[in-house]
Amino acid sequence: MTKTRTFTIVGGGQSGLQLACGLLAAGHQVEVVQNRTAEDIAKGRVMSSQCMFDIALQNERDLGLDFWGETCPTVDSINFTVPAPDGSGNKAIEWNGKLDKPAQSVDQRVKIPFWMGEFERRGGRMTIHDAGIEDLEGYAKASDLVIVAAGKGEIAKMFERDAERSAFDKPQRALALTYVTGMAARPDHSAVNFNLIPGVGEYFTFPALTTTGPCDIMVFEGLPGGPMDCWKDATTPEAHLEKSKWVIDTFLPWEAERCRDIALTDDNGRLAGAFAPTVRKPIGRLPSGATVLGLADAVCLNDPITGQGSNNASKAAKCYLDAILAHGDRPFDDAFKQATFEAYWNYAQFVVGWTNALLLPPPPHVLNIMGSAQAYPDLARRIANGFNNPLDFFPWFAVPEEADAYLEKLAA
Ligand SMILES: Cc1cc2nc3c(=O)[nH]c(=O)nc-3n(C[C@H](O)[C@H](O)[C@H](O)COP(=O)(O)OP(=O)(O)OC[C@H]3O[C@@H](n4cnc5c(N)ncnc54)[C@H](O)[C@@H]3O)c2cc1C
Repeated sequence: MTKTRTFTIVGGGQSGLQLACGLLAAGHQVEVVQNRTAEDIAKGRVMSSQCMFDIALQNERDLGLDFWGETCPTVDSINFTVPAPDGSGNKAIEWNGKLDKPAQSVDQRVKIPFWMGEFERRGGRMTIHDAGIEDLEGYAKASDLVIVAAGKGEIAKMFERDAERSAFDKPQRALALTYVTGMAARPDHSAVNFNLIPGVGEYFTFPALTTTGPCDIMVFEGLPGGPMDCWKDATTPEAHLEKSKWVIDTFLPWEAERCRDIALTDDNGRLAGAFAPTVRKPIGRLPSGATVLGLADAVCLNDPITGQGSNNASKAAKCYLDAILAHGDRPFDDAFKQATFEAYWNYAQFVVGWTNALLLPPPPHVLNIMGSAQAYPDLARRIANGFNNPLDFFPWFAVPEEADAYLEKLAA
């Protein structure tokens, strides 16, 4: 039997708390250091649109961490639309692909405070503190392994940027979130309604569960300097909602149709910002020479365009948990840390590649795939389910010859 080991996890978000609960279940001692109280998080700004697909949700179910499966609205499909370039208000492309199993989005303001309490109920130690490098030195002395799961927190900068694995050094989109009530439901089944507006950016929307109950989340991905990069002056809740309506009134009449009666879920149901997608080296070295291991967004941060961050965080937490448990009583040395990240990177590199590709103007073979899905329901379904398992996009989505061959097969 493996002996009880001690872990300190800095950052109690999707990945940190999920891993922490997995380690507790295996009989280990776990401390989570979180820089905000549960109440601060519950009453604060929204942080994400956190749409999670089945594989990631299953990781939560396996750990007994799904408390909202029955109350959270389901997302049943991906609906992809490109407006006609002539400004007529018509659609140039539209298709819908059903998900084999539904996705769900539970506002992190609901999930994380509840998980913090649950972690303590299960015997974990929760410390509210904004950890710095000095603190990490202390944790490294006191624990068998220190994991930094601090997301976009400043402390993640202790991990060196991996220039080879990072395609960008600047934000690729101006991001905004608007959580609303009163959006008209789609006629058939729910969806991530994904609209790609050439030269402007992307807008997607789907149902979710927030602090006040069911809602819809509007996600804006504006090309830098373009008309959807428009949030700087929208500093009040009213101005943010008005700006959100302006975008869809201007570019997406079919979405505007659904939004005649929308209102913010609450004054904090909004967010605007930008960040550069960044992959970092997974081992952080402290002044003393001790090392810590980075997890999820802290070392592999993606643009939300493909809605993969929380999914990645769940999958990374599972991957690290499996690696830790398989390691038995051996020391968590740098070789273990590097190998654990590489095991995750074996998967994540494909998500990063797919996500980064969608941030760039689409090459002809991708345009061809996205247009052809209108004619081939099997293709639409395959693309939709690729959000659950992006590995399935490779190689046919990435390699032009493979794409052509696959489309020819479908046509035959
Ligand atoms: C606009 C937007 C839309 C998104 N939409 C989606 C989507 O639809 N689907 C999806 O899958 N993902 C989405 N994401 C991404 C997703 O939210 C993140 O990738 C995910 O939450 C990352 O999990 P994590 O555990 O790495 O970090 P986080 O969940 O960010 O958790 C990090 C935690 O660490 C804490 N912390 C930070 N610094 C310190 C410190 N020094 N000491 C102690 N604690 C600290 C933070 O307060 C936080 O609680 C979106 C993100 C954005 C910005």
